[in-house]
Amino acid sequence: MDSKTVFEKSRPGRAGVAVPNYWGADDNAGSAGIPEAMRRAKAPALPELSECDVTRHYVGLSQKNFSVDTQFYPLGSCTMKFNPRINEKVAALPGFAGCHPLAPASMCQGSLQLMYELQQYLAEITGMDAVTLQPAAGAHGEVTALFMISRYFHDKGEPRTKVIVPDSSHGTNPASAALAGFQVVTIASAPDGSVDLEALKASLDGSVACLMLTNPSTLGLFESKIEAITELVHGVGGLVYYDGANMNALMGLVRPGDMGFDLVHLNMHKTFSTPHGGGGPGAGPVGARGELVDYLPGPVVRQGDKGYELTAMPHTIGRVRLFWGSFAVLAKAYAYIRSLGASGLRQASEMAALAANYMRVRLHERYHVPYDTFCMHEFVLSADRMKAEKGVHAVDIAKALLDRGFHAPTIYFPLIVEEALMIEPTETESLETLDAFVDALLEIADEEAETLHSCPLNFSVSHLDETKAARKPVLQWPEA
Ligand SMILES: *Cc1c(COP(=O)(O)O)cnc(C)c1O
Repeated sequence: MDSKTVFEKSRPGRAGVAVPNYWGADDNAGSAGIPEAMRRAKAPALPELSECDVTRHYVGLSQKNFSVDTQFYPLGSCTMKFNPRINEKVAALPGFAGCHPLAPASMCQGSLQLMYELQQYLAEITGMDAVTLQPAAGAHGEVTALFMISRYFHDKGEPRTKVIVPDSSHGTNPASAALAGFQVVTIASAPDGSVDLEALKASLDGSVACLMLTNPSTLGLFESKIEAITELVHGVGGLVYYDGANMNALMGLVRPGDMGFDLVHLNMHKTFSTPHGGGGPGAGPVGARGELVDYLPGPVVRQGDKGYELTAMPHTIGRVRLFWGSFAVLAKAYAYIRSLGASGLRQASEMAALAANYMRVRLHERYHVPYDTFCMHEFVLSADRMKAEKGVHAVDIAKALLDRGFHAPTIYFPLIVEEALMIEPTETESLETLDAFVDALLEIADEEAETLHSCPLNFSVSHLDETKAARKPVLQWPEA
């Protein structure tokens, strides 16, 4: 496939659609009615191509896209599961898609009912008392919850300043804490990858507002001491926040609320099957328990005398997003939950863990698995031994997978694993696909270092200098 831009393909005078005599006899006559001062001095530098050229160019670009609809996408931490088409159909129903967010509640009862029921389902799945659907993504949910926590302690007359995160946490956790004005305290993980209780104890005092934790951790491991952890934080009057990005491991099996968490976010675009990977939109609903419920951002949907209505909580931190949040994403999550049902959600999580463990066990003789124990929905390999033996890095393995038709796993994260390759298969893949991916990794393990260093070989671009590609991108644009 060629990699020329539309500007390079442009030929003077070539046109897709020709409007008869649009410019008139001369250029000026064509600008009829446009005041002289507002007219361009010269024609814009637009590419000139036929409709056929344009169609092939853009269809060609779309085929360069990697997507879960075309190939296996085991990007750890991102839950790139297949998104059933029924979700799209439901979100596109005219009553939902055409509903104006400023229309009176009496005219949007169906949409409000969907949001109300989704709030209830998410509260039930997480063990929280109430949920807001407003935030636009996981990270937005985190910062929303931290604003709530900040206001909560302010109202109690206890200005707490610290937020604790484990060193295995997702980068958004410390970033959100800093954005909400907290001082971030990072604690080292125990040798088995879990939260180190002694390190946690040492960091706890009356200035701690919150511990942010994902369970299972980014290593794919369930924190078996979770109740002791949440009790320790509550013991100094702090709160515990659940980063629910890994909820795909636990649906219907165990609830963050029952583990002692006070606030959670969920990623609709991960666990609840909204397409993602190319940016937005997503949704990161936030759930809360007890007194914290009063601080949720609005509007929240409740059942009133005249049906479903939008309402603000008594101590709400205000709005975090316009209108109703990402409504279409919420409709997809609703369709997904309703089509699976409670037992289906549980089965999805069980299958996700089964798939990850199956792959881990097939790979652990040939690849180093630093935390080689029963995992949840994902697991982490390390290329550290291959690096020492023959100079092969995680990134080389990732590139070699591209050549074999697979999306690369997440690499170099979590930060506590050297040369990490983080694999999350999800429940939606067949045994044949899991085997094909494992076979590809086993084949790569036997390749010569020299070959791996030159991968990918089957693309329009080869082994790029990624830093340069990100910092000094070549954005071709003709001279104006
Ligand atoms: C994806 C992810 C986030 C952030 O969620 P976004 O929706 O991408 O903002 C936070 N924590 C973990 C563990 C994640 O995997």
